[in-house]
Amino acid sequence: MNWYGRSLAGASLALAALLSAVVAPARAQDYPTRSITMIVPFAAGGPTDVIARIVTGHMAQTLGQSIIIENVVGAGGTTASARAARAANDGYTLITGHMGTHAASVPLYPNLAYHPEKSFEPVGLLAGTPILILARKDFPPKDLKEFVTYVKANAEKVNAAHAGVGSVSHVSCQLLNSVLGIEPVGVPFNGTGPAMNALVAGQVDYMCDQIVNAVPQINAGTIKAYAIATPERNPSLPNVPTTAEAGLPAFQAQAWNAIFAPKGTPAPIIAKLNAAAVKALDDETVRKRLLELGSVIPQPADRTPEALGTLVNNEIKKWTPVLKPAG
Ligand code: ASP
Repeated sequence: MNWYGRSLAGASLALAALLSAVVAPARAQDYPTRSITMIVPFAAGGPTDVIARIVTGHMAQTLGQSIIIENVVGAGGTTASARAARAANDGYTLITGHMGTHAASVPLYPNLAYHPEKSFEPVGLLAGTPILILARKDFPPKDLKEFVTYVKANAEKVNAAHAGVGSVSHVSCQLLNSVLGIEPVGVPFNGTGPAMNALVAGQVDYMCDQIVNAVPQINAGTIKAYAIATPERNPSLPNVPTTAEAGLPAFQAQAWNAIFAPKGTPAPIIAKLNAAAVKALDDETVRKRLLELGSVIPQPADRTPEALGTLVNNEIKKWTPVLKPAG
């Protein structure tokens, strides 16, 4: 190559470098320029779906683009999470994952097609969700003590609804069942939205579910709540005793729900999404709706992508020894 050719090649390289330097940040800066898909790994109407809809409704206003919820069901939320992990890392496909999909799934699925930490960028924590022990309205036990006696005596007959292996409802009832030393029949659904319908209809006996799905039904008297598995009662359900008050202090369970983006999503996009989520959590209407449903709104220090990354890491460490021996 002669001097002219070399300098031309050099110039075009410099131009390309300049263009990519100018274009890449400009793209992230303009983000989003079209609608965003938020994958919800369970059926519509369940806790993950409800939380995702409440928060993304506000985030869409901040971001100036609509956020379309896509319910992708199956395998306790892992089908959807695998799909989200494979999506383009451009900020236009996100997932609302939770303690099941992004922690408990690791020990439960040896061939999991994604890894919560290696396949995703944490965006932000949305809500903590205490777990309740719930039963169909006409389930014979009147309180938690009677429930414990009844399910132990009828362990072969009773069944427990859940949202698939690795879902929060599955994992938290596994914990309850191991505390009680029973192995009831599990009845899987595509989410605890449909599982709750079956509970209300009296088709299944009991369920461990996140509070946001339970408050409307408990208040309407369509199901029974034996206890909430947190140290304190929840203001949205002042009459529901804690598991400690009701005689089963060993059963403590609270889930969490959070937004994740595919690994490699540019940092400025993650920052924009996080800021929109944080703004939503500070909005009075959003807060009111989340609190009415019993959610625990994360404190500001717990809302950063880094804090969510740490939570996921700790939760995988916490659930792995608990769930691995059970298979
Ligand atoms: N999050 C629920 C669970 O893991 C399912 C759902 O949201 O429908 O059990």
